[in-house]
Amino acid sequence: MADLTLTRIRKTFDATVAVDSISLDAPQGCFLALLGPSGCGKTTILRLIAGFETATAGRIVHGDTIWSDADAAIHLPAERRRVGVVFQSYALWPHLTVAGNVGYPLRVAKMNRPDRDAAVKQALETVGLTGFGERQPAELSGGQRQRVALARCLVMEPEIVVLDEPLANLDAHLRVAMMDVFGAFHRETGATMIYVTHDQAEAMALADRIAVMFDGRFAQIDSPERIYSRPADETVARFIGEGAVLEVPVLRRNGNAAVADLFGQEIPLPVSGTGAGDVATVCVRPDRCRIAPDGAIEARVLRTTYRGSHWLVDLAPVAAAGAVLHLACGDRPPGAGDTVRVAVESVTPVGAA
Ligand code: ATP
Repeated sequence: MADLTLTRIRKTFDATVAVDSISLDAPQGCFLALLGPSGCGKTTILRLIAGFETATAGRIVHGDTIWSDADAAIHLPAERRRVGVVFQSYALWPHLTVAGNVGYPLRVAKMNRPDRDAAVKQALETVGLTGFGERQPAELSGGQRQRVALARCLVMEPEIVVLDEPLANLDAHLRVAMMDVFGAFHRETGATMIYVTHDQAEAMALADRIAVMFDGRFAQIDSPERIYSRPADETVARFIGEGAVLEVPVLRRNGNAAVADLFGQEIPLPVSGTGAGDVATVCVRPDRCRIAPDGAIEARVLRTTYRGSHWLVDLAPVAAAGAVLHLACGDRPPGAGDTVRVAVESVTPVGAA
């Protein structure tokens, strides 16, 4: 059991910088999500960890074993890293049965037949596929195929499992069910899980730490709660949640907090280091805003969108041309063009300690 450390890892493909000098500590047993938009370098990091790519610069160390060191030209091959890999596409052998697929890595490792059969049986039981051993992959649903891929990972008893958008091909119901399977797998194996996704809800539900990535770099590595409640910068704040990111003038200090002017409403900012005359960046989340007859903010309704559990209302505050607030409304909302009064319960400070 060992920790995984990436130090100043850089990976270029010709002129493209896919990963730009990132560093990361993944303690043994953590569940880390790499979260970011398409093309930001998430998959490349997984491939570097698994050993499918060679870093242009930097080091990857697992416990006291150097897996990769660009300066020393060290690159431990993938098969010697014992990293389990789960792909979005499942990557099952179509001509092998479920048991054949799950037992394949053990066959390659020359494990004897009885031990192999026992390990396969146990792994299929863990992922809830007892009795499916003789089926072909083509006879399984997407979720069942993903479980086979997970069972194949499990038989190798990996210390690290990397998962690349494993739920992207599944429908909403199956995604929730498979999240439970991944959570149980993590608890039962104690493996380090490194999970790539661009879906923040998935990352928040599964991970104990999230690394938010843009353009080959980490913008913030933190707990899901901190990522949501204390985004490190505007880009993270805009990417996480549906909040409006705004600059507001600070009116005065009030003990350890400051008070800012949000379109005519005085709002406390739980940050130190700002005072009268400063401008603070804040994120206003839709669930912190409500329509209230005595609300201090006057705003015009731009449009409403039905979201199932609530309506999302886009509002233009009268006091600030061009600014937009979003509000979550449980009841039927006012119509586009109506003028309403809005109260904001709290704001999320952006980039402040
Ligand atoms: P997605 O969420 O769309 O899968 P990602 O965040 O996983 O994206 P990567 O696949 O890591 O992103 O790609 C990062 C950048 O590196 C992209 O600009 C991509 O085009 C480029 N890239 C990745 N692999 C290669 C390759 N083998 N050759 C050339 N460029 C590559």
